Amino acid sequence: MTEITRTFAETRQRGRGRVGLVPTMGFFHEGHSALMAAARAASETVVVSHFVNPLQFNDRADLERYPRDLDRDLEIAREQGVDLLFVPRTEEMYPVEPLTRVEVARVADHLEGPRRPGHFAGVATVVAKLFAGLQPDFAFFGRKDAQQLAVVRRLVLDLSFPVTVIGRPTLREADGLALSSRNVYLGPDDRPPSLLLSKGLFAAADLAEAGHFEADELIEAVRRVGSGIDFEYVTLASQDTAQPIDRIDRPSFLALAARIGSVRLIDNVAFDLVAGNVVGDRGIRLSAPSRLYS
Ligand code: AMP
Repeated sequence: MTEITRTFAETRQRGRGRVGLVPTMGFFHEGHSALMAAARAASETVVVSHFVNPLQFNDRADLERYPRDLDRDLEIAREQGVDLLFVPRTEEMYPVEPLTRVEVARVADHLEGPRRPGHFAGVATVVAKLFAGLQPDFAFFGRKDAQQLAVVRRLVLDLSFPVTVIGRPTLREADGLALSSRNVYLGPDDRPPSLLLSKGLFAAADLAEAGHFEADELIEAVRRVGSGIDFEYVTLASQDTAQPIDRIDRPSFLALAARIGSVRLIDNVAFDLVAGNVVGDRGIRLSAPSRLYS
């Protein structure tokens, strides 16, 4: 039985045994459900935080139109056996104007960082508040946001939060498009070009697994498949630092951002080193339409 909690203190006090936290901004899709399932498998108490964090939006219009539906989210949390859905009011999260910001230098310097000024400081600050206020044993994040995962991992290392961070594969729609709450704003004409993003990344992953490790070649493959798409960037970066690298010589990810119609999409494939081999994590595809659309 999932219960909604509104305060840090109440949520913390109700945790029994190991606590697994899934931080979210709500409007759940299968990517969120998969994180909840992973948390359920590893923890006695599963807490999902649900807060559209104004600090991490650099664009006011994006914040205002971010989709919201708490009833629907509660239903999905119930299906996943979540114990506590922590839905803080703004007064709980920010009782006074926050003067402290957590800035993870360097990791935020490239990719999304310069394009969304203040975004990662907003993310790192709210995640630090959740870790401090809820004291979870585990925290689950999607690899879909690979740079965010790098920021969170570094924040935990640098500030000694006693939490184990777990990154999980990207969930994709049946046609390959990475699930995002913002996909509901893609129009019918936006669908065909949006599919070229994952198609290009998969082509690059095939190349990498065949021994082509040079960033230029992988980036070129993505740009070729997506010719006509206005990419903001296509970059190979290190998983640890999110710094651009020239070739796959460490755990890395090939990331892109592009605007399709009125929606800004990001996607990536991760490259892990498994027994000395480069293996692309292309994520997990749904076999049926996402419940985002039902
Ligand atoms: P959000 O609600 O968008 O802030 O996302 C909450 C968490 O879900 C973050 O850790 C995201 O990385 C993760 N997430 C978002 N989309 C996906 C996806 N398609 N697959 C896996 N995880 C995701």
